[in-house]
Amino acid sequence: MDLNEKNRNRLLAGKIIKGLESRNMNGYFTETKEEALEKALSLIPEGSSLGWGGSVSIQEIGLKQAVMEGNYTVYNRDNCSTPAEKREMELKTFGADYFLCSTNAITEDGILVNIDGNANRVAAIAYGPLHVIMIVGMNKVAKDEQHAMLRARNTAAPINTQRFPITVPCKETGSCVNCKSRDTICCQFLTTRYSRHAGRIHVILVNENLGF
Ligand code: SF4
Repeated sequence: MDLNEKNRNRLLAGKIIKGLESRNMNGYFTETKEEALEKALSLIPEGSSLGWGGSVSIQEIGLKQAVMEGNYTVYNRDNCSTPAEKREMELKTFGADYFLCSTNAITEDGILVNIDGNANRVAAIAYGPLHVIMIVGMNKVAKDEQHAMLRARNTAAPINTQRFPITVPCKETGSCVNCKSRDTICCQFLTTRYSRHAGRIHVILVNENLGF
């Protein structure tokens, strides 16, 4: 990300944060991964329970590592050896104090768009954990809801499929064909346009490219 892009992001961030606030969510702007990590940890009191959904961004800023080394109860789905164990961990995460994740896209006026296969991530964003903390690189900002969905479907999802041992068309072609493959990761779509509960959803914008 070059200086001009970073300058533009600084100007745009205020609009996104106002949009989030108008939707009963909290927004913050940080310049670096390190600042984002510090901000996230400042929002999570020691002793809290927490878990996460699939997210490259929380890994990239070091948040997973930091909470695993800190004084928290961590429901770590990454270390589960069987699908049953993983499901149990995800169900525990629904009752956690904090859920850590990113978003597939965010609009300039603060709407969050997410696509999920297993749906534990979109379910936890919508309901369950008492708080949601999202780490969002400014590369995920889209003009409006239509562009956010386009980004989630045509950028985030086809890149995401590269990470998994699955058989879907976009993994071979790089382009979404709206498949109904058994392995599709595009099963559930969540648009978060408002949070019923004040102080539940916190979005930490980062002036770097994070995730995809
Ligand atoms: S719908 Fe299918 S082809 Fe499109 S991104 Fe999802 S998995 Fe890939």
